[in-house]
Amino acid sequence: MTTFHVLTLFPEMVENGLNTSILGRAREKGLLRFHTVNIRDYTADKHRKVDDYPYGGGAGMLMQAQPVFDAHRAVLEEIRGRRGGEAFPQGPVRTVYLTPQGRPFTQAMARELAGEEELIFLCGHYEGIDERVLDEVVTDRVSIGDYVLTGGELAAMVMIDAVSRLVPGVLGNDESAQTESFHRDLLEYPQYSRPEVWHGKGVPQVLLTGDHRKIRAWRLAESEKLTGQLRPDLYDRYLQKRQVVGRLSRRKRRNIHMMELLERGLGEVLYAEGENVLLAGPGKLYMADAGSLEEAERMLESGFGASGPARGWELCSPSPFVKEVLVQRWGGQVLMECVQACYTRREPLPVRHRDIRVLGEEWLGELQKRYSLAGERYLRERLAKGGVFGAFLEGRLAGFIGLHEEGSMGMLWVDEDCRRRGIGASLEAWLINRLLERGETPYGQIEAGNLGSIRLQERLGLYLAEGSVWWVEDSRGMDG
Ligand code: SAM
Repeated sequence: MTTFHVLTLFPEMVENGLNTSILGRAREKGLLRFHTVNIRDYTADKHRKVDDYPYGGGAGMLMQAQPVFDAHRAVLEEIRGRRGGEAFPQGPVRTVYLTPQGRPFTQAMARELAGEEELIFLCGHYEGIDERVLDEVVTDRVSIGDYVLTGGELAAMVMIDAVSRLVPGVLGNDESAQTESFHRDLLEYPQYSRPEVWHGKGVPQVLLTGDHRKIRAWRLAESEKLTGQLRPDLYDRYLQKRQVVGRLSRRKRRNIHMMELLERGLGEVLYAEGENVLLAGPGKLYMADAGSLEEAERMLESGFGASGPARGWELCSPSPFVKEVLVQRWGGQVLMECVQACYTRREPLPVRHRDIRVLGEEWLGELQKRYSLAGERYLRERLAKGGVFGAFLEGRLAGFIGLHEEGSMGMLWVDEDCRRRGIGASLEAWLINRLLERGETPYGQIEAGNLGSIRLQERLGLYLAEGSVWWVEDSRGMDG
């Protein structure tokens, strides 16, 4: 559940705007919660005044610091009260001030914010808000475009709408968020619905063939053409990523995780010089490769920038040099050493056990009983995204497999009494086929030493990379 708190002088405007259609339904289903707070309720002024003249003169009025600060504090208290018993990250709660001077809002930012459970939006009015309170409570300043609105409410609603539809479960069909505009830095291809001929114009023939590979290729070509024509800035970024993927593909088995991160539109390039590449993935996840200690040092320094990686970061790398520098210089600790396996053939695999289904959130408890490597929040998110698949024997859950947030296959589990019946192989083959249908290259990372699973990969026809990949994490953890 994601809660959006909106600090505003016009709560009814926000409430009315967020109550219809998809967002209204998501709210009813308990996937989203909207909490509006009237800043005026917190003014200490006996006439309920919240604004005053700006020092130094100038047009208009400014919202004063005190009511904004107290309204924000009330929201923090509401969060603490509601989540009191839970282990909730201690750091500041993400507080977005809508302002024309902010960072331009993008789909990538929407994706990042969709991972937060509590988000506070602060809407300005009149000429804005006293700078001193902004310095104290705001974590992000965001603009929705180069124009000036009368207030932050519409801007907050725009952001909430874009973030909400990326919250797992809100759209119903999560794949639609994966194919539309800005995904992979491309605009969406043209779409057609019935009738087949309208005003004498037919639908492009390829869409009627039922050949998914051809349809995918046509759509990609159309997207590329459109983006090149209409948004050369986006298209350049797209081409840069293609170039990086091209370079990584010289050592495909080693780098498949980085290639797929970019191919599936889940990653941004922070640094790319030859084979030294640093990518930012979903959430606080990074991936990197480097050919020497010096190159790893230079890359991480330059790619992370002055502010360093996000607190609670995790980084996955096939390079012992990257691992070394992370541990020595960036306070990292090795979480896991894995072997990487990828399926580079295009033919689907036979699946013996037929009863395999997408698991919904109601399976959380069953998953938690069996799989201890991931926490509740992560499992819940994977389930909500439709990323966990169960095999059933005589109607009962016998095992499962999942897709991790960065795209690798994993979480493979088969109950003790159901083993040696080919259920693990069926689950993995089934998932491989599903990924192939989406035009993706299936891959997984198996903990080094898990010989049973490594043998299974070989039997299914996956190729193992030489050497290991390491997962390194921020030793400070998530909390402040
Ligand atoms: N004096 C401010 C300036 O020139 O930057 C403009 C203030 S504007 C009239 C009032 C409020 O509307 C701002 O405090 C902000 O919350 C919101 N706002 C206006 N334009 C916006 C934009 N493009 N993106 C996000 N918020 C905006």
